[in-house]
Amino acid sequence: MSPRLAYNQLMKLPNRLYVLGVKYALKQKIGLAESGSFGECSPAKKKIDIDSNIKIDEDILETLGHEIMHAYLYESSMHNLFDEKTEEALCDLVGRLIKDCFVLKR
Ligand SMILES: [Zn+2]
Repeated sequence: MSPRLAYNQLMKLPNRLYVLGVKYALKQKIGLAESGSFGECSPAKKKIDIDSNIKIDEDILETLGHEIMHAYLYESSMHNLFDEKTEEALCDLVGRLIKDCFVLKR
């Protein structure tokens, strides 16, 4: 049986969020995955985009967790502590953490 979310299905994403007090726009963007990524964080533009074709809530949560972690690392200046590969691994881990915390296994 497939996993399910701990709350009602079909997440409605907010259109903004605050990262250490800094406002980020959050948008679902068409065709992002075609460029090789399900999500994108742009600290310079203060925005996070998530591919609008992701239809599974668990995948949205994991992608969102990953991208939000990039924003937290940037806004805390901790991104300076890691090379790109390490930062990606850290963000992957946080994305997985968020998914694991909010998805119930039957
Ligand atoms: Zn990343």
